[in-house]
Amino acid sequence: MSLIIGSASGRSGEKVSGFIDVPDRGDPGAQIPVSIITGANDGPVLALVAGTHGSEPSPIVALQRVRAELDPSQLTGTVVIVHVANVPSFQQRTIYRGPWDQKNLNRVYPGSAIGTTSERIAYAITTEVIDQCDFLIDMHSGDGNEALRPYSYWNKLGVHNGVDQRARELALAFGLDHIVIDRGRPRDPNASVFCSNTAHVRGKPAVTTEAGEVGVPTDEMVEINVRGAFRVMRYLGMIPGPREMVEDPKWIEPSEVLTSPAEGLWYPAVRPDMHVEQGALLGRLTDYFGETIAEVRAPIAGVVLYVVASPAMGKGEPLGMVGAYSAE
Ligand SMILES: [Zn+2]
Repeated sequence: MSLIIGSASGRSGEKVSGFIDVPDRGDPGAQIPVSIITGANDGPVLALVAGTHGSEPSPIVALQRVRAELDPSQLTGTVVIVHVANVPSFQQRTIYRGPWDQKNLNRVYPGSAIGTTSERIAYAITTEVIDQCDFLIDMHSGDGNEALRPYSYWNKLGVHNGVDQRARELALAFGLDHIVIDRGRPRDPNASVFCSNTAHVRGKPAVTTEAGEVGVPTDEMVEINVRGAFRVMRYLGMIPGPREMVEDPKWIEPSEVLTSPAEGLWYPAVRPDMHVEQGALLGRLTDYFGETIAEVRAPIAGVVLYVVASPAMGKGEPLGMVGAYSAE
């Protein structure tokens, strides 16, 4: 089976690369770089997506290495790599939102062919990549301003038990031992909002991973992402080698993203992976003159999954995330 994605036409036993063309339409379009690695034998189609947020480079760098190291003659099935989903955000070095429409690509799925840039990118990835894959990993990290300890999101959607269970196994296969249980994602395929959820509601097991931080692709975090991609391929039987699963996962539920009550300067008082009690000081916000205007405290006891590491802070923007350990 040979996939065609944008200008790339998969060929059995070969690696090909090309671009998905997102045309200009009022605001600028984009050329999304993709690779298709086609095994000699038919099998699952695994999509690996990096750069949904452009300032999260650890997975982007990792997928260059996956493309280089993956040997099609050893592959069963097809690996689709979206090297940088959000090219405008990458090129313009924006966090969270695209530069032309100020929309978060990971909040506009399944997108629209006649929408703004971010919506058209989401539509292109939905129709060209998600509709053609069987499994999907949306690979994130802390954004350019976020310090983060690695974790995954398990989308326990409750629509198809088999899809949920397969997604759970994908998370365990990828290898990050902290796994946030997320039951709150939308179930409507026409308003699926998130990239991985778009696959999930279409019956394709998917996970979102977070490994890397503050816009810098360290060797350690790149390696974690590379290893995760190959571990998932081994779990799916796409490449030779023993399956490895996280043996002692730390399930996290509930979790809370904290947002800023005002604009100003953020002074974090915690670091990622710290354990905090309910009510512990996470950081404080000052006005532009240095006067404290808010103290932000942990709403629940748990582990700090990420925290904004730099001062710039707008009202309503994320400050960090705390999650409680739980039984699965
Ligand atoms: Zn992200």
